[in-house]
Amino acid sequence: MLRTLFVTTALPYANAPFHVGHMMEYIQADIWVRFMRLCGHTVHFVGADDAHGAPIMLKAEAEGITPRALVERVAAERPRYLTGFHVAFDHWHSSDSPENVELSQSIYRALRAEELIDVRTIEQFFDPVKQMFLPDRYIKGECPNCHSKEQNGDNCEVCGEVYAPTDLINPVSVLTGATPVLRDSEHYFFRLSDVRCQEFLNHWVEGHSASGAAHLQPEVRNKVREWLRLDESGKSALSDWDISRDAPYFGIPIPDAPGKYFYVWLDAPIAYLASLKSYCDSGRARAADGSVQDFDALLADPATEQVHFIGKDIIYFHSLFWPAMLKFSGRKVPDLICVHGFITASGEKMSKSRGTGISPLRYLELGLNPEWLRYYVAAKLNGRVEDFDFAPDDFMARVNSDLVGKYVNIASRCANFLADQFGGEVLELGETAAWTELGAAALGVQVREAYEARDTARVARLAMGFADQLNQYFDAAKPWELARDPAQRQRLHEVLSISVRGFCDLTLWLKPILPALAAKAEQFLGCGALDWQHRSVVRRVNAYEHLMTRVVEKQLDALINPPDAQDPKALKLAPKPAPPPAADGAASITIDDFNRIDLRVARIVSAESVEGSTKLLRLSLDAGEGRLRTVFSGISAHYKPEDLLGRLTVMVANLAPRKMKFGLSEGMVLAASAADEAGEPGVYLLDPDSGAEPGMRVR
Ligand SMILES: [Zn+2]
Repeated sequence: MLRTLFVTTALPYANAPFHVGHMMEYIQADIWVRFMRLCGHTVHFVGADDAHGAPIMLKAEAEGITPRALVERVAAERPRYLTGFHVAFDHWHSSDSPENVELSQSIYRALRAEELIDVRTIEQFFDPVKQMFLPDRYIKGECPNCHSKEQNGDNCEVCGEVYAPTDLINPVSVLTGATPVLRDSEHYFFRLSDVRCQEFLNHWVEGHSASGAAHLQPEVRNKVREWLRLDESGKSALSDWDISRDAPYFGIPIPDAPGKYFYVWLDAPIAYLASLKSYCDSGRARAADGSVQDFDALLADPATEQVHFIGKDIIYFHSLFWPAMLKFSGRKVPDLICVHGFITASGEKMSKSRGTGISPLRYLELGLNPEWLRYYVAAKLNGRVEDFDFAPDDFMARVNSDLVGKYVNIASRCANFLADQFGGEVLELGETAAWTELGAAALGVQVREAYEARDTARVARLAMGFADQLNQYFDAAKPWELARDPAQRQRLHEVLSISVRGFCDLTLWLKPILPALAAKAEQFLGCGALDWQHRSVVRRVNAYEHLMTRVVEKQLDALINPPDAQDPKALKLAPKPAPPPAADGAASITIDDFNRIDLRVARIVSAESVEGSTKLLRLSLDAGEGRLRTVFSGISAHYKPEDLLGRLTVMVANLAPRKMKFGLSEGMVLAASAADEAGEPGVYLLDPDSGAEPGMRVR
């Protein structure tokens, strides 16, 4: 049965360029979409920028431009990345669009008519200088639990305590340094705790799409079941969701609520629909019968499958709020939520690592083949929610040994024999014993199953296993000997023809992963475009041209160790996220104030996780004092203990020791972090330049 699919990837926040984590997701989705199309299914594949929210508003303000100008500048860079890595979205749109305003407001009105919107007065911090309500992350203060200073508005990085910003002692606005005041504000809530939402979600979580695939992967389903569990009194444990923000805010106005805007997370997923609508309205979207696809008709059709590729950090939004919003506004609910883990470098989330990270744009500008990365990503992703490590040696081995050494090798070995001996002609042998023995037909079925389940690691294993078999078959037949014996001419032609047929099957299997390489291979095979609906026959191969080069270590070095960051070109190639729009109004201090802080270089002698805390690491620091200090640091989510051993960093040495739940903390290590409303903030430990020694004063 032929299917119609509406496929999206998560919306990237439009304040920064793509990082390699984005590209991994787009490559994963693009491979799946290409596979579906090769099977004859109709796919509408759309993306969009997530353009709203306080961080974009404040960043634009700091640059002296409008939020729209900022978003447009970032959006203008998107095609370089997407085209560069052969990611073929049908359409790319923005959450800041007329379609999204209309859809967001209409979904909101429908939810309100269902009595799923509540208006409640809440007390919130307000910056009297900036004249705006402050999001949690723009407030700092003293932790109410351990009394560490300069802690975040919603949690303490020292003791791990989670609290409301109103619990902070001596709160300060990060934007102006002013003391925020509490003000009442009316906020709008989506009543996720309503029994109808609970009932619907309990049902949806266990459900399947029209084609029989489970809505959620097993590990995701288990997690969502936990969220849906009722509390002891039998009530929903789900909290209502605050969907409004007060002006000034860059967002979509809430109908009948002057000065109120939708929280960016409400309208971001709705932009999936807005992008699809914009695509349909352009007249380019085609239904299976070739007619122009109508937006409403597509989503009203129960057979249409709605598929979202997302990272594991946004499961809550996509498996609770999003299906419930759609359901109770009378719309199609998601059929498949495809969740992936993160790409890391030595355990650090790739987008956040320094030095070892890879910039996708730099990758392209250095002339590395985009299909190397596509293949590596495919070979690592197995359809489960697991992180994988980008290991340069592994990358090189995979590409050189699998793609060049095994797959491409088959074509290059046959090409000259066929051209010299038989004018390129290939025998049509049918199901001979030698061919059947290779088992391509059964393997092809398994390859399709693996693609369907997004287990591209299995696709790569199956394809390379078959490539090994073909190479062994070729070696065992010794065509170079057959070619010297005129009596063996027919046998030689059979061996070469079977090898080419195997190469043709492999090309089809790898085509969703390697679209450009497959196009070159199809040119060589002279068989037209390969797909899963028609059996292709190779009758005569064309002149062989080199299909793929090997990865050279030097290229990879240049990618992984970017040149001096002072080089303006390097800055252009590896754009850094802008610092938070902070501090410019912060109160000034004298040099004497600063000198009261004793900052010392310290070596991390040991680091271990702390039982009972997900945030803290216990560090032993040598600050040249002839003894070690114990410091608890809230960096556990960002660093593995083993990666910190032996590193130098900077410590506040004269911070009064603090008694914590897990022991005495005798100082504090320094780290930088940016904040970004659409993702979790990164944390970067400071380290001194080489030559610094433990105990040196920092001033
Ligand atoms: Zn604390």
